[in-house]
Parts: sequence; C-alpha cells; structure tokens
Amino acid sequence: MTQRDFLKDAFIRYTGITSQSDRYQTYLPTTEGQMELAILLKDELHSLGVTDTELQEDAILIAKISGNANIPAVSFMSHLDTVDIGASPDVNAHLIKFTGEDFYLDKDKKVLFKVEDYPQIKNYLGDDIFVTDGTSVLGADDKAGVTVMMGIARHLTQNNVEHGDVYLVFVPDEEIGLRGAKALDISKVPVEFSYTIDGSYIGSFNYETFNAAEAIITIEGVSIHPGRAKNVLLNPLLIAQDLVAQFDILDTPENSENHEGFFYFIEMKVNPSGAVLDLLVRDFDLKKFEERKVFVKKAIADIQQKYPRAKINLEMEDVYANISNFLSQNKKPISIVEKAMENLGIPMVSGPLRGGTDGSVLSAKGRMTPNIFTGSHNVHSIYEYLPLTSLEKSLEHALEIIKLIATE
Ligand SMILES: [Zn+2]
Repeated sequence: MTQRDFLKDAFIRYTGITSQSDRYQTYLPTTEGQMELAILLKDELHSLGVTDTELQEDAILIAKISGNANIPAVSFMSHLDTVDIGASPDVNAHLIKFTGEDFYLDKDKKVLFKVEDYPQIKNYLGDDIFVTDGTSVLGADDKAGVTVMMGIARHLTQNNVEHGDVYLVFVPDEEIGLRGAKALDISKVPVEFSYTIDGSYIGSFNYETFNAAEAIITIEGVSIHPGRAKNVLLNPLLIAQDLVAQFDILDTPENSENHEGFFYFIEMKVNPSGAVLDLLVRDFDLKKFEERKVFVKKAIADIQQKYPRAKINLEMEDVYANISNFLSQNKKPISIVEKAMENLGIPMVSGPLRGGTDGSVLSAKGRMTPNIFTGSHNVHSIYEYLPLTSLEKSLEHALEIIKLIATE
C-alpha cells in the first residue's frame, strides 16, 4: 500500500468514529467515542509492531517506538476529540477532485462550497480534497494529526531509519479547555521537547501562544427588602459594575490584535446576595502578563477598600503558558522545523496564535512544544477541508524532523 493510500484510508477510518468532546462532562474522556478511537489506535499500533503502549482510563494513549541508535528522543502529540459547533457529531468525510469550480457538499440541501468565499482552495487545483457532507465539521482538527502520527509509526516500523525513542501521545478533550494535555503526566514522556501536530494549512507553524490565567471573583453583598434598605443594602451588582469599570475598555479582545494582550470578562452571575465574575487574562509577553495579574489584585483590593462591608474573594490561576517562554533557553525545536520545511521546499508561515494549544499546557509544565501543520483549512466549520497532498506533506515534514534530530 502506498503512503498516500494508507493516509487516505486511515483518515476516513478515524473520522468515521464519532468523538466530539462534551464540555458539560467532568470525567475524562468526556465521550465514549474518544476511548473507542484510542482503542482502535492502540490495536493498529500493535499490528504495526509498536507494542510498547499504555492506554490510560482517561483515554490518554502513549506509544513508544524504541530508538535504534544513540539519538535524542522526541514526542509528537495530537488530540482524539473533534469540536462541537452545534452541527452533527457524526462525520462523513469524502474525497472530491477539485476542478476550480464551486461544488456541493450536500446537493439535496444545496450546501454549496463557494470558491470565492474560501479562495485559498485555489492552491489545490486538481488535488483530491477531503470535505464534509455539509452537516458537520470534517474533524481534520485533529484526526489529520492522529493520521499523521500513525503514518510515523508505519514508516518507522517498515523502513530502515535511524532514530531515537519516538513517543506518540494521543490525548482526549483538547477542544474543551486542553483537558487531556493538562491530565498528561509528562514524566511518562521523557523527551527534551515535543511537537503537537494540530496546526493549520501547509507551511503554517506556531510557537507563540498566549500566557493565560483565569480569575473567578466572588462578591458577597448584603441583601434586604428594598423598603428597609436605607444604609443596609449592599448591592453586589453595583459593586461588580464598579469593579469592571476599573479596567480599560480598550484593553479587550475586540480592540486588540497581533501581539497585544487583553482582559476579557466572559461571565457575570448576579443575584441580590452575591455576584460571580469570570475574567480571562491574556498576554504574549511574560512580564506584561504578570503585571496584568498584579493589576487584577490591585483592582480588587481597591474595590474592597471602597466597600468594606462586602466580602470579595479572588481565585486566579494560570491556565497555560506561551510556548516561546523557553525560546531563549532552547531554539532547537524551532530551528529543526525551519530546516525541515526548507529541505522540503515548503514556504513557512509563522505568527502569534491568539489562543492556546496543548503545547501551551505542556509549556507551562516546562516542556517546549511547538505546533506543526496538518494541512487543514477552515477548522471548526462545515466548510473544513483537507487536501490529501497536504496531509502527505504533513507526514513528510514530521519524518524530516525525526531525520534532522538524528543528524544534528
Ligand atoms: Zn485541534
């Protein structure tokens, strides 16, 4: 079987397993389909001869392909879940030959893929492209990454390639707060650095993400019948409003871009006795990020002073960290990717990712983990698509990384 056919069949097989994550569940994995997929991957790895695997109860699957030479170890990571956008959880991926014309994802329901809406598809004229049937996402995010990692296992076990230990890590529930990566015990994956295969179109590369914290602020006021409220009522809604007003209204997601950070109040629940506010703190720059957290504490201390009868409590914790916080210590994982793309003749497109990845979670645990491309476009949409040639390139890119680590 050719590599292209292997990737094609594997992608159809993995997207055929419904594994959308569910943010309302508290246990990992949040859905059974993710475990079903992890079991299938484990079985397929065993058939390929990769028998050193551990499938945890939380559906984290760690496979080790032992090295055959004295070469540093590396790991790759992808996620088992697909995102819930309110469309069908079931995916019917199929291939079309792209002719340059608009085409129907679903002819009966007249779901049309308009080339002018997504002009990047013109780069793939004549290629075979995976698309949806118009009812769901494609789930190339991240079944493409999963497929590529299985391609790595197949390549290393069937060819005579010198390599160090290669760990393949599949995690659940990325789309609902990077929960699988948070649950991963990184001591089980002893490598200096790793890569997530969860990126976008061919050539895209992310090693800058936000530093992120979340603050839950609770305000306890004093409630009483409004007719007897004089000098007694302490309205938590007004205190909350006063607190929010301490923050610059231009320092928000809707007013920032590129490397700018922000404060984002995403929820306020209030009743006559109390209020709960949920605040997201984001910045690329570590120093500015720390200053933002100090600002939050100061704003709350000021409000507490202004309303001494209120009980105000802050719980703030770091959620993930900028992958490039470690850049000054270790540029190797970046330069290897740059070299790999150069060797393969792929133009690199790199920029700050205004969010987080599983790699940002690992980075917070001290493990630098940049994000490399899968080849997908329009993720989290029914118009998501994946050119088969880009998927092949994603695998070649990962294999080139393994080769470069061996020759460094
Ligand atoms: Zn993803």
